[in-house]
Amino acid sequence: MVIFAHPDDAEIGSGGVIARWVAAGCEVTYVLCTNGSAGTADRSLSPEQLVDRRAAEQRAAADFMGVKNLVMLRYPDGGLEDTREFRGDIVRAIRTHRPHTVFVHDPHRIKGFQHRDHRIAGVVATDAVYPFARDHLHFPEHITDDGLEPHKVRELWYWGPDQPDVIVDVSRFVDKQIAALIRHESQMPGFNVAQGQTIGDRVKKGAADLAKGYGFKHGAVFRRLIARR
Ligand SMILES: [Zn+2]
Repeated sequence: MVIFAHPDDAEIGSGGVIARWVAAGCEVTYVLCTNGSAGTADRSLSPEQLVDRRAAEQRAAADFMGVKNLVMLRYPDGGLEDTREFRGDIVRAIRTHRPHTVFVHDPHRIKGFQHRDHRIAGVVATDAVYPFARDHLHFPEHITDDGLEPHKVRELWYWGPDQPDVIVDVSRFVDKQIAALIRHESQMPGFNVAQGQTIGDRVKKGAADLAKGYGFKHGAVFRRLIARR
């Protein structure tokens, strides 16, 4: 399960690994937290038009990636808060789709700016994994009213960490990641690619820098928490 704030964050943060795991037979669920209503510099576009476009782009990217389930929570862009309602939505998605591993933004990154929605999605997803989704007395209405069961996620992988402790060889999957990323056409201007470069060049260069010294060409890095048995 990939939990992410805005349309395109999943492909940027975990696209290479997700492509690799889908190819290996894993079932993947995306949980998109906001509707991306603030993600444009184009003043001619209304927020409503933008929201529709970005939902369609995310659906296309998820389909292309082979993602089986796409949950859209549709909170306003820039509007995520650490509330019981939002935490309950994430817990419900976890109890419904029952992932072994959850991927999310690293909320504790301090090197460089990070979007507020990324931080809050990271914190709320962490709390949802442990202890809220696991313990039946949290959100008991999921169990009594909706027929769901508590669920214990085994691993939590954060993308964008200051100090990664996992690297994955994504050499064979970085092209798929890039092809999914460019489904987010409305976001192309915001990717700030230097003249003469493409977003693909930039993603590949970043992945190649991470892989240096590991004996493969492109890498993706994470910080990983593993639940005790
Ligand atoms: Zn984002």
